[in-house]
Amino acid sequence: MPRSLLSAPKSSILAPRIGTIETSMMRRVYLDNNATTPVLPEVLEAMRPYFGEHFGNASSIHHHGQETRAAVERARESVAALLGCRASEVVFTSGGTEADNLAIFGLTRSGDHVITSTIEHHAVLNACKHLAAKGCEVTYIPVDGRGLVDPADVKHAVRPNTKLITIMFANNETGVVQPVAEIGEIAAEADIYFHTDAVQAAGKIAIDVNKIGCDLLTISSHKFHGPQGVGALYVRKGTQLEPMLYGGSHERSRRAGTENVPGIVGLGKAAELAVAGFERGDDLKMAVARDHLERELLSIEATGLNGEGAPRVPNTTNIYFDSIAGEALVIALDLKGLAVSTGAACSSGAIEPSHVLLAMGLGPDRAKASIRFSLGKQNMAEDVDFALALIPETVSRLRDLSPVYRSVFSK
Ligand SMILES: *Cc1c(COP(=O)(O)O)cnc(C)c1O
Repeated sequence: MPRSLLSAPKSSILAPRIGTIETSMMRRVYLDNNATTPVLPEVLEAMRPYFGEHFGNASSIHHHGQETRAAVERARESVAALLGCRASEVVFTSGGTEADNLAIFGLTRSGDHVITSTIEHHAVLNACKHLAAKGCEVTYIPVDGRGLVDPADVKHAVRPNTKLITIMFANNETGVVQPVAEIGEIAAEADIYFHTDAVQAAGKIAIDVNKIGCDLLTISSHKFHGPQGVGALYVRKGTQLEPMLYGGSHERSRRAGTENVPGIVGLGKAAELAVAGFERGDDLKMAVARDHLERELLSIEATGLNGEGAPRVPNTTNIYFDSIAGEALVIALDLKGLAVSTGAACSSGAIEPSHVLLAMGLGPDRAKASIRFSLGKQNMAEDVDFALALIPETVSRLRDLSPVYRSVFSK
């Protein structure tokens, strides 16, 4: 009987162990949940009717439309409960990227100044880069060696024309949690909009928009066991937001286009399950499993933790294995059935050191020797054991092939 990391339901009629795919060929363990997570069986069950019997357009006034409209509004309540906001403040989008773009482009005009950080996800970073074309200026706040933004730096960067501060809640590569409540206070005092990309925080740590003091907040369904291609932007009541898409008056004219009803229903269910998970203490159990994995990996020589000393979400650990090419380790582990990542999924494929780790002061070699391990609710205690049985021997085999490592570390 597999030991569950969490007290989440252990099996379902759909798949006894989703995310841990057993084939006749080999066992596969997935520890790349910051890239995407498997849809939980309950989420799939909640979505299923909206592909079939309940197919109406949520804008139609007949029975079929009313049915899907009700489902969308129930999902909006569930997302609002996850974030501590009103349902009317939730705007459904096609995902985290669109929500980040809507926040950034929806608030800014030519001549505005925007403050962000050097470690944002590319959905924010590249949107901010594009703001120059719109006649806006952007200040990029650096981070310290732990990966943390200093709120004092944010305060000093404020100008008379600063319109928006956009700083992420939790980093996707390191899991480091930023001092968002302090930044929210600075924004409120200076009367500046504050947006936070909470894609990697949602479902992992409790979020309350009023405690953070943010005006806008992004979440993405597929990062916490909902389906891909759907997300939401929290928009505080009274915020003047220009839409990016023009069309029908969907989402109170903040996001035109027929709603992705099955996706939205899935997001709502994932939000409900996340809230229930916090009540069961899933986050604490996740941290215990992550800490065990981390402790064992750090006992391998010439390794270290990226984000040491900073608060982090409970599922993520990012570790450097000196003199190893991260990509080579990812590939070697994948051949043995373990899926991990060198960091942002978008930068995998191109062997560029992570902009997040470089911003934290790592040299390019150490940045490229870093691996992200991220747990999900589907993972079992056995999955961590499986990883721990593979990684030390794989690291030492790769190091045996490395002349640099042999000359520096071997006697
Ligand atoms: C994944 C991710 C996004 C993008 O969300 P999508 O729904 O995949 O577009 C944005 N920000 C962070 C921090 C992420 O991890």
